[in-house]
Amino acid sequence: MIGRPDVTVIGGGLAGCEAAWQLAERGLAVALVDMKPARMSPAHQTPLLCELVCSNSLRSDDPEVGAGLLKRELREVGSLVMACADQHRVPAGSALAVERFGFGRAVTTRLALHRNIRLERRVIDRLPDGPTIVASGPLTGGQLADTIRGMLGGERLYFYDAIAPIVAAESIDMEHAFRASRWARDTATDHSGPPAETASYSSDGEPAGDYINCPLAKEQYYRFVAEIRSARKMAAHPFEELRFFEGCLPIEVMVERGDDVLRHGPMRPIGLTDPRTGTRPFAVVQLRPENRYRSAYNLVGFQTRLAYPEQRRIFAMIPALSGGEFLRYGSVHRNTYIDSPALLGPEFELKQRSDIRFAGLVTGVEGYIESCAIGLLAGLFLAARLRGTACPPPPPTTAMGGLYNHITAPRPPSQSFSPTNINWGLLPGLGRKVRKRERKRLLSRRAAGDFAAWLASVAREAA
Ligand SMILES: Cc1cc2nc3c(=O)[nH]c(=O)nc-3n(C[C@H](O)[C@H](O)[C@H](O)COP(=O)(O)OP(=O)(O)OC[C@H]3O[C@@H](n4cnc5c(N)ncnc54)[C@H](O)[C@@H]3O)c2cc1C
Repeated sequence: MIGRPDVTVIGGGLAGCEAAWQLAERGLAVALVDMKPARMSPAHQTPLLCELVCSNSLRSDDPEVGAGLLKRELREVGSLVMACADQHRVPAGSALAVERFGFGRAVTTRLALHRNIRLERRVIDRLPDGPTIVASGPLTGGQLADTIRGMLGGERLYFYDAIAPIVAAESIDMEHAFRASRWARDTATDHSGPPAETASYSSDGEPAGDYINCPLAKEQYYRFVAEIRSARKMAAHPFEELRFFEGCLPIEVMVERGDDVLRHGPMRPIGLTDPRTGTRPFAVVQLRPENRYRSAYNLVGFQTRLAYPEQRRIFAMIPALSGGEFLRYGSVHRNTYIDSPALLGPEFELKQRSDIRFAGLVTGVEGYIESCAIGLLAGLFLAARLRGTACPPPPPTTAMGGLYNHITAPRPPSQSFSPTNINWGLLPGLGRKVRKRERKRLLSRRAAGDFAAWLASVAREAA
């Protein structure tokens, strides 16, 4: 039984359990505090730690898929969550699905029996003194959310994500698209705020710009709108009483307001001239780089609750995206997350109060294993800090490094921060055009080498 803990971890979910384990394994005394079963969030139902609140699938286990690559890395670095998941896996093709109660019991037991961990079941409303990792998840309970909001300032904690889809750069058909920035300040399309670019033209007269514009002719536009209207939408969870901001309405809500609303909103063509026709298109879907590698682009202002297969089908009606490879689909749901790139330092510590660190979904990642990965990194970073050693961040070419950069790399003010799951768009491309299957194989191989080198450097630093 430990005395005064070196670290308090708030939240025994995917992130908190992994962080606590990594700290404890490195000899630090941890108080792991979860409010269950005294207080249950609207989605949690059992007293077990590491509860999978919805699907029992941790997604693909194929290392040539982003989620599979992340799992491979988690296993290599000694993840408790992955060890228990592997132990309780159920048949699910190339995915890793688990028997959820066996999995939850295994994680709970191993943490409860660890000699460096004290498991506490209580609600935390205020942040404790001393090194703390906040991993309270998308449904942060009690007054903790208010405490965090008060500390960060009101605008830095979000309660919903409104996510636009992301498409792989290589899959955009540039025969049906053109590059240009809008001549006027952008306003209503994107809740992230106005990008202030003006039109620019390269010396050879070709329009240049940060955006890729995908034009639609009149008939194409109205067919597109009609399909969105009749498409299947994702149902909200009972506790998700969604309230939308006028500045970031989902596209299907805009369509309900009239056939031309999209054309005057995110699809407005004003300030754009198609260099191939010399005219202004009838409507335009604008794509903005999602990362500095320009390997992925988001559909600006296209936050949506359309079902994923419907997104795939309907967005393929945009001529430039007829072969679009979607790295992430749009969504709108209840969440609690902070503006990590603005608020957190390189070890997920609050810039304004470095004894407080964040991990898991609350940092702006999506998904079970992504939350686990950020918990694991938070544990490694803090353990190194408290032991007076160093833990370098994972390289950007790895799945963990891609997630790490997503939540720590500074963003220009025009780019809003929204949660992401692991996808190839978070990693730098290969710098040359390669067929999709081969590209994934090469990216996965590159990641394997770089991850092994990183693990070796972590071990060296810790020695
Ligand atoms: C309804 C819903 C469905 C989802 N479905 C999926 C899915 O199918 N697949 C997927 O990959 N991801 C899904 N997610 C996302 C999922 O929540 C995360 O992937 C993952 O559980 C987040 O991990 P976490 O550790 O950050 O938070 P959580 O796993 O939610 O853990 C947070 C823990 O903190 C505790 N806690 C909260 N507040 C306090 C407090 N004040 N004091 C003490 N303890 C506290 C909670 O009891 C909880 O145990 C879903 C999310 C929601 C809300």
